[in-house]
Amino acid sequence: MGSRLLKFSEIDYGPPDVRDAGSRTSDFGEIHQDFIIEKAAEQASRCSQCGIPFCQAHCPLGNHIPDWLQLAAEGRTREAYEVSVSTNPMPEVCGRVCPQDRLCEGNCVVEKAGFGTVTIGAVERWLTDTAVREGWVEPIRPATERGQSVGIVGAGPAGMAAAEKLRRQGYAVTVYDRYDRAGGLMIYGIPNFKLDKAIPERRARALAEGGVTFRYNWSLGRDGALADLREEHDAVLLAFGAYAARRLDTPGCEESATIPALEYLTASNRKGLGDAVPDFESGALDARGKRVVVVGGGDTAMDCVRTAVRQGAESVTCLYRRDRENMPGSAREVGYAEGEGVVFEWLSAPARLNGCEISVQPMALGEAEGGRRRPVPSGDPERVMNADMVIEALGFSPEDAGALGGEETLRINARGCVHADPKTLETTIPGVFAAGDLVRGPSLVVWALKDALTASESIARHLEDMIEVAA
Ligand SMILES: Cc1cc2nc3c(=O)[nH]c(=O)nc-3n(C[C@H](O)[C@H](O)[C@H](O)COP(=O)(O)OP(=O)(O)OC[C@H]3O[C@@H](n4cnc5c(N)ncnc54)[C@H](O)[C@@H]3O)c2cc1C
Ligand code: SF4
Repeated sequence: MGSRLLKFSEIDYGPPDVRDAGSRTSDFGEIHQDFIIEKAAEQASRCSQCGIPFCQAHCPLGNHIPDWLQLAAEGRTREAYEVSVSTNPMPEVCGRVCPQDRLCEGNCVVEKAGFGTVTIGAVERWLTDTAVREGWVEPIRPATERGQSVGIVGAGPAGMAAAEKLRRQGYAVTVYDRYDRAGGLMIYGIPNFKLDKAIPERRARALAEGGVTFRYNWSLGRDGALADLREEHDAVLLAFGAYAARRLDTPGCEESATIPALEYLTASNRKGLGDAVPDFESGALDARGKRVVVVGGGDTAMDCVRTAVRQGAESVTCLYRRDRENMPGSAREVGYAEGEGVVFEWLSAPARLNGCEISVQPMALGEAEGGRRRPVPSGDPERVMNADMVIEALGFSPEDAGALGGEETLRINARGCVHADPKTLETTIPGVFAAGDLVRGPSLVVWALKDALTASESIARHLEDMIEVAA
């Protein structure tokens, strides 16, 4: 039998079909179609099985990518799924939302050789979607109850993945979240067209069925202090993300009632989930019929512009102060947004807002600063554009984590993030660990998952040590 691998020179790069712009902008459904088994196996067979897999080295989870691609190419789908899930607590999420062009696929040797990357993310997503359909996903059924408990603050990807790891080992786990649903930014930040809400919802259900207790509408700092959780649990994991939005300091912003990106996206996501959203119904957070301007150039800005298109905005413009090459957002997402009719004004920053009018300052790239060239006014004259809705998508930092934690010995670094030992993710309070955006600042789902794995291992060790000391 001939090899089922190394087909990259015979078989073209073929990601799953993407819905055409006309159809995908008329709803909030995911834009990628599913692979069928033959197509997934065919695309997996393009892997060159290189001696040093750079894709794996550039995956934050160190996924055994060539191994599961080989199994998928051979039609051994269930085994491929099992290898994939052995290192990744949420492969179907990462397959959808990782910026693969900057991580695994961007470093694929086949891509570097000019043949077009192996579609790693799409195969990874397909493996778990198939496992769910086929009933291969192992329910959470701990073999033993260990009699120790862990409190987790934050039901985002970091908190959920840690909850699963620890519950499977037999620890009692309670997850506290200030919102009314689990998922964190997977549910209220990232729009449905990138990640179907059914996915985090299914994971939350599986955790609850496996014995994880969720306490919703419970906010650290308001409904309880860290000291209370330490009293109640044998270990605590802080995974409550980074939610303080950076705001424009441009004159006229306050009077012009600009909208923070997450407020806008949360309203849209809640609407899609069937919630009553008065600020959406009133039109305040609905882009329908409006000229929308989004300020910022990251993935959050891309999610805002693409949401506005789907809400039926009259026009959508993205203002970004650097150029296309220096944009932090994924190039793939920018391409999708352009295809959906979004206009990008590069090297442009708002200088002043006055009601519907924005004075736009043309920018140029100056000296390098921290690896990227600093945008400076170009000296060209300002121009005026009109907008009915201005959304600020300038990034986030953790909220006042010290005050939320309520303990002076919880060290917070200069960026406002909780300080944790990089190897164990233990904070400066013994028995209290931290993970995800709260430690890193705004990052990626895949890094939150990586932290969850590290922290849950450290927590398990800590809990075992407690028993040994007591014995
Ligand atoms: C709009 C947007 C789009 C993004 N798109 C992508 C993408 O395409 N790909 C990607 O990889 N990453 C993306 N990210 C980043 C990614 O979502 C985050 O890095 C990731 O969700 C961080 O996980 P986390 O568990 O640390 O925190 P979060 O997901 O933020 O979860 C934290 C949880 O803590 C809860 N919480 C907060 N404060 C408290 C409190 N005081 N008490 C109790 N609970 C609290 C919150 O309600 C939330 O449920 C995006 C982020 C945004 C904002
Ligand atoms: S987790 Fe992300 S970076 Fe790693 S293989 Fe999957 S898609 Fe690529």
